[in-house]
Amino acid sequence: MVLTQAGVGAGCEQAAAAPVVCERFDDLGADGRPVRLGIMGGTFDPIHIGHLACAEQAREAFSLDAVVFIPAGKPAFKLKRDVTPAEQRFEMCRLAVQGNPAFDVSRIEIDRPGVTYTADTLRQLREHYPGNVALFFITGADAVCSILKWRESAAIASMAELIAATRPGYALSEETKLTIERSGNFRIHMLEATGLAVSSSYLRARVQAGLSIRYLTVRRVLDYIAAHGLYGWKRNREAVCEVSEVEADRSRATELGAAGILGDAFYQARRDDLAHRVKRSRFEHSLGVSETAARMARVYGQDERLARLAGLLHDWDKGYDDEGIRARAVELGIADQLASYLDMPHLLHGPTAAAALAREFPELPAPLLQAIRLHTTGAVGMSPLDLIVYVADVIEPGRYCAGVDKLRDMVGKVELEDLFMATLVYVVGNLIERRKLIHPDTVTVWNYYVARARERAAANDAKGSK
Ligand code: NAP
Repeated sequence: MVLTQAGVGAGCEQAAAAPVVCERFDDLGADGRPVRLGIMGGTFDPIHIGHLACAEQAREAFSLDAVVFIPAGKPAFKLKRDVTPAEQRFEMCRLAVQGNPAFDVSRIEIDRPGVTYTADTLRQLREHYPGNVALFFITGADAVCSILKWRESAAIASMAELIAATRPGYALSEETKLTIERSGNFRIHMLEATGLAVSSSYLRARVQAGLSIRYLTVRRVLDYIAAHGLYGWKRNREAVCEVSEVEADRSRATELGAAGILGDAFYQARRDDLAHRVKRSRFEHSLGVSETAARMARVYGQDERLARLAGLLHDWDKGYDDEGIRARAVELGIADQLASYLDMPHLLHGPTAAAALAREFPELPAPLLQAIRLHTTGAVGMSPLDLIVYVADVIEPGRYCAGVDKLRDMVGKVELEDLFMATLVYVVGNLIERRKLIHPDTVTVWNYYVARARERAAANDAKGSK
């Protein structure tokens, strides 16, 4: 929706408190029961299946209740080598942990200025969580080998137990382990994690050499690397990772449930995905749009479940920045649309979301994808569902903007197209007032619906005079 992206919404979205550690596990231990929290510390440049398998196996072997991946902001021992920007490594971790309810990713190291020291991180975690939350710092055994040289290693030992993941060729000898335990007062647990023969440097080298990294990391991370051209990725290598069947291992049947794509199981699974794709305030907004769209569908005799899902997914791609969304459009093969969005990349997330969702969930109905595609600009001849999603985006309850209440009051009292027209007046008026660019499609929409409103008014007048 133009309003949202172009800034009218920026000042009037509900402010949600930012999580301290991460969205999912900020409240761990609040009920006083003992909790075991795994901390996956690493550079994750990029994250790969070895890390994920290691976290999962650590969770299982040490009965961890949750595992938080904490990508290092400015890794202490890598100050001289080029490391991918922290935000991109964070984003890859965020994409990788999606779908595992026991995993989440934290920004605490990338948001903390200066060099990243594990002692500072553990202190931050210790201050945040109550004493009944025990911390287990999981990292590679070779990193553990040097732990006595880390800043404040005694403090580290007092705040967390260590889980040292070994990989072929890098086992921590019993002797080294004992030395570290004795001289540093550490408690070290060994974990023989399968899959750790893979390493980030191996993935980087393969990408650089134009070789496939398919199956070495998860699909979403692979897409991200391709879309952002990381590690020397070249566009013409897309074929190497053309991975339409990668998601096939996921059990669609379970996710879809008996009610299919419009059922609660699919809705819930995408809701969980979305919580990791966008900021918390955006997530709350999407839930508001979903609820409002469902209510409007009920009022205007449309499919409530379709509207509910379309509302939920409309901002599926809103987590990308301008560069990211352009790259996403290229990667999705809709770069031909880029020209009309040249100065308005903030509107591209409608078309990219529709294309990405169609690729990832081929079962999604075309009318739903259309509503998502059009929600940023509108289009001539919009369907009732398109109109509902467009309007719901503006009037969902989380928005506190002057004038929106009037639109909310109109639901059910006026025809859907009149409500849309009033919403368009509001949106376009705001853009004009703030001297913002208006997408050419929105201008066309405006002219089209103004003409239609006139025609309908004339037809009504004619009826009245009969
Ligand atoms: P690294 O030297 O790049 O990693 C050493 C080895 O461990 C690599 O084989 C690496 O594989 C593997 N590894 C890294 N993280 C892992 C994890 N969570 N689980 C399993 N294997 C893992 O180490 P790093 O990634 O830079 O640092 C590891 C952690 O130690 C980070 O949290 C970092 O902040 C901390 N650290 C702290 C200090 C300090 O406080 N002074 C100093 C050094 C490290 P991949 O290359 O495939 O990841």
